[in-house]
Amino acid sequence: MKLRKVTAASAAVLALALSATACGGDSEDEGSSTSSGGGGTIKIGIKYDQPGLGLKQPDGTFAGFDVDVATYVAKELGYDADKIEFVETKSADRENALARGDVKFIAATYSITDERKQKVDFAGPYLLAHQDLLTKSDANITKGTDLNGKKLCSVTGSTSAQNVQKSIAPKANLKEYSTYSECIAALQNGAVDAVTTDDSILAGFAAQDQYEGKFKLAGLKLSNENYGIGVKKGDASTVDKINKALEQMVDDGSWQKAVDANFGPANYENEQAPKIGVIVPNAG
Ligand code: GLU
Repeated sequence: MKLRKVTAASAAVLALALSATACGGDSEDEGSSTSSGGGGTIKIGIKYDQPGLGLKQPDGTFAGFDVDVATYVAKELGYDADKIEFVETKSADRENALARGDVKFIAATYSITDERKQKVDFAGPYLLAHQDLLTKSDANITKGTDLNGKKLCSVTGSTSAQNVQKSIAPKANLKEYSTYSECIAALQNGAVDAVTTDDSILAGFAAQDQYEGKFKLAGLKLSNENYGIGVKKGDASTVDKINKALEQMVDDGSWQKAVDANFGPANYENEQAPKIGVIVPNAG
């Protein structure tokens, strides 16, 4: 009985492998296999630890605004939700993941910047966020310069870390971790005085049950973060298709639905939907 089951399973695996070869699936190459015939899968880079944006849940499923945007876009590219394989792309890994072809595209609180555009292409923007600060509720940090001399956490490879060093508080004692959840843990246990990144991300953490009443956002708009969908440099046809999908997502109301579902619980007051191709620059 058991043996028969295994044999049947092996046959199914073999048949799958053969059919993948037969239709020339190149899933290792470009983050997706051929979409012809609808049998392929697509690999999409997201964050795994950012509540409200990209979160891997205890049951293994994924939730958040970026996840909803990615799922909508994938559908328009010809991949149903069950054909998506989400891959974690931490802030510092995003350009390399695209260059290597690990993923077809990235929707991971990924700000469009001139520096990054040297290495990857972007569709969008699909959300405008702003850098802000998160502290303990009783802290007295109310403006960027208050951070000078303070212990501050942000993430390697993020615009947030760069902005601190360049302009917001060059004399802050900046600790760079690889994820924001590590920064939040450091804030909670007193290892740092503040965490800085996009308000969208900080609001999601602050609204978690376990942090209720413990943290506060400063409410500063320290930068403009135009979230784009990253694709491999030179893949203009994918950028085009994604831009059309994003436009449609706004027009048919799905964008607002995703905003309400994911930012509502955190009381995050997001900006209205950006226009495709229109970047809100940073001052200076
Ligand atoms: N949006 C900013 C960035 O792309 C900060 C958030 C992040 O690290 O993903 O760098």
